[in-house]
Parts: sequence; structure tokens; C-alpha cells
Amino acid sequence: MQRIEGGCHCGTIRYEFLWPLDAAEIPVRACSCSFCMKHRGTYTSHPQAELHATITDTVRVPTYRFGHETADFYVCARCGVLTFAVSRIAERDYAVVNVHTFEHIDPANFTTRVTDFDGETPDSRLARRKRTWTPTVQITRARKEESTQC
Ligand SMILES: [Zn+2]
Repeated sequence: MQRIEGGCHCGTIRYEFLWPLDAAEIPVRACSCSFCMKHRGTYTSHPQAELHATITDTVRVPTYRFGHETADFYVCARCGVLTFAVSRIAERDYAVVNVHTFEHIDPANFTTRVTDFDGETPDSRLARRKRTWTPTVQITRARKEESTQC
């Protein structure tokens, strides 16, 4: 397993992405939905990969849903970076990670293809995610200590 570190810009969202293949060749999907176009959302996933994320301030990371509302997009409200998306299917979380939030990985390693899933039904979309998204997802949320002083 290759250990890829990444996160948002300000450090509120950090993750380790365990990648089962050679990190020199990472297949990447440039999603063409309206939300991902605005963020330039470009993702990778693998059925044997693992995502372990830590969110140090949950208030700063509200998740965003749209369309069929079958995925939560983790966008840091402090620095504005879209890090990953998680879809819950039959009590299990599946994730894709925005490769632009990888650190110490040369973007020359990305093999990008543009995808268009607009014609999918909600059922076929979830079936595809179950096959191709990363099925081991752990997100640790830590709420910042509230000051008890006036
Ligand atoms: Zn941030």
C-alpha cells in the first residue's frame, strides 16, 4: 500500500489515503457535474484503497448534498477546499478523494478521463459507486474545545 497524505489548505481536514497500486499511475476521473465543474472536482478511488480522515473542527466542515442527495461533499468552510465525497450505501461508507488535495504526489502521475454520469438513475449510480469507490472510510471528528470563560 502507498500512503498518500493530503487535506484541505488550512489543515482542518487531513487524511491518509492508502493506495493499493503504484502511486506513479493514478487513474483520475474529472467529473462533469455542475458542482464538480465549479470546484474542478477530480477524483480517484479503488475498491482496495482506504481513506482515514481527521476533521479537527466540525463546525468548519459542513457537508454539502445536491441532486439526488446520495453523496456528502466535504468542503472546508474555512479555506474552501473540496477534499473528498462520501456516499452511504447499505450502512457502509464509500469515498472518492479529490486528487488535487494530495500532497507530495506529482500531478504528472494522474491519468485523467472526463466522466459524465448525468444519465444515471439513482440506483445505477449507487451500484457503480459500490463497485468503484473506496469502501474503507474512517472519519474522525474532533470538536474544538469551547472556551468556558466569559
Ligand atoms: Zn481548510
